[in-house]
Amino acid sequence: MANIKYVFVTGGVTSSLGKGIIAASLAKLLQERGYSVTIQKLDPYINIDPGTLNPYEHGECYVTDDGAETDLDLGHYERFLNIPTSQANNVTTGRIYQSVIDKERKGVYLGKTVQVIPHITDEIKNRIQILGNTGDFDIVITEIGGTVGDIESLPYVESVRQLLWELGHENAIVIHLTLIPYLAAAGELKTKPTQHSVKMLMQSGVSPDILVCRTEHKISESIKDKLALFCNVNKEDVIESIDAETIYDVPNLMLSEGLDTVVLNKLRLSKDSRPKLIAWNEFLAKFKNPKNTVEIGLIGKYVELHDAYKSICESFIHAGAFNEVKVNINWIHSEDLTIENVPETLKYLNGILVAPGFGERGIEGKIEAVKYARENKIPFFGICLGLQMAVIELSRNVLGLKDANSTEMNSKTPYPVIDLMEEQKNITNYGGTMRLGAWDCELKANSKVIGIYKNDLISERHRHRYEFNNDYLEKIENAGMIATGKNPETNLVEVFEIPAHPWFVGVQYHPEYKSTVLNPHPLFIDFVKAALEHSLN
Ligand code: GLN
Repeated sequence: MANIKYVFVTGGVTSSLGKGIIAASLAKLLQERGYSVTIQKLDPYINIDPGTLNPYEHGECYVTDDGAETDLDLGHYERFLNIPTSQANNVTTGRIYQSVIDKERKGVYLGKTVQVIPHITDEIKNRIQILGNTGDFDIVITEIGGTVGDIESLPYVESVRQLLWELGHENAIVIHLTLIPYLAAAGELKTKPTQHSVKMLMQSGVSPDILVCRTEHKISESIKDKLALFCNVNKEDVIESIDAETIYDVPNLMLSEGLDTVVLNKLRLSKDSRPKLIAWNEFLAKFKNPKNTVEIGLIGKYVELHDAYKSICESFIHAGAFNEVKVNINWIHSEDLTIENVPETLKYLNGILVAPGFGERGIEGKIEAVKYARENKIPFFGICLGLQMAVIELSRNVLGLKDANSTEMNSKTPYPVIDLMEEQKNITNYGGTMRLGAWDCELKANSKVIGIYKNDLISERHRHRYEFNNDYLEKIENAGMIATGKNPETNLVEVFEIPAHPWFVGVQYHPEYKSTVLNPHPLFIDFVKAALEHSLN
């Protein structure tokens, strides 16, 4: 087997420097040069996965085809690289410890004392190499979550140190992403925090090969000299990463800084074919030169933290660029919506998206928003909980089923139009037990969605526990909302649409997880198109 090359990305000084975007941008450039690349994220927290985390903690939980609930950085990886990730691409400390403890219980360690070193570090090293060992990739980029110096990160940094030593330096390198703060009062960029964070890495035996420096101002040659001298890196390996207008500019910025070239040099890989980024730059040109603007209302209950809806926002960027339209997202808190203020709040919108979510808080506002969109013929897109809200709205306001609800919100509702599947009823654990990952869906002939997908069998990703209750299907369809997508095996409804409405589609799955720069999602494309038509009328 050819040598698999490993690139580790660590972070220093502060969190939120955008390691995921740097990793994804580097991977994009390497992919454009013809290498097969994947990216993995190691998260140093003790949750088994982010599935049980409140969105306010870490933003959206991203779901892969194989049903893994993962960090939102995996969404960036897929959107940049246009290839799917899987459970192997996201590992947490919780998962590492769980498998070590499982092995201990099975007697795998043959009576040894189980310790952080070597048992936890060996498990980490194995997880890092799982993707490389598939033989599918030339280069594996592993992003170490957290910040160097955190107690939680230590076993990861030690594992990286061991792997660098075992694999050899032409096969494994470290990129350290750091912050060069600007002190306005002094009018200067400061290198000291970076020097300290590199020192911290070195104390653990890891010397970074490349420094990627986040900065608000251009980094001068003299600053690069200083960083090189005090951090033990070559000057050409100090890469500036200046604040960008959009994350989608970062691959071009890294290309002009030569990040891919220094990486390939160090890994002794050929750099004959220069990245062209043709399709990427076509997307960027359209994204930056929109011909029209549409106003979309995103109705959710975590709107204070836009990261909670990361994939939806990115899907709008892809679909907007495709349509050469700027999609202006109006963040609307569902708890703030009432019967009285809905017309005033929503009347400017060209499209209304009711977002996914869990629990009772804010659902009445979502139901009011659906009603407004339905009655006023404003393009409506319901995703997961958004579809469930559309069913409840129609049941209450058209069928007259007073207090119709989902049993998630009211277990005693007289009309449980959304209910738990039989197999969910006896589940007591919360983590990893929803309907997750890719499921097939058959689309109905002559429906709107079949026209949009141009396919009668699709596969989309899921993350929910409740389903439409088929006992009410006939009534709902008689009221004008038609089930146009169904799971071919279970007959569960996946898509509802209202043919008499210009654009009213609800989906039980999450199309936003599959939209990428090169493959914008067809439902988002068509929804934006409908919003554009609405705005021109
Ligand atoms: N809470 C709903 C369910 O579990 C919807 C979930 C979601 O929107 N992702 O079915």
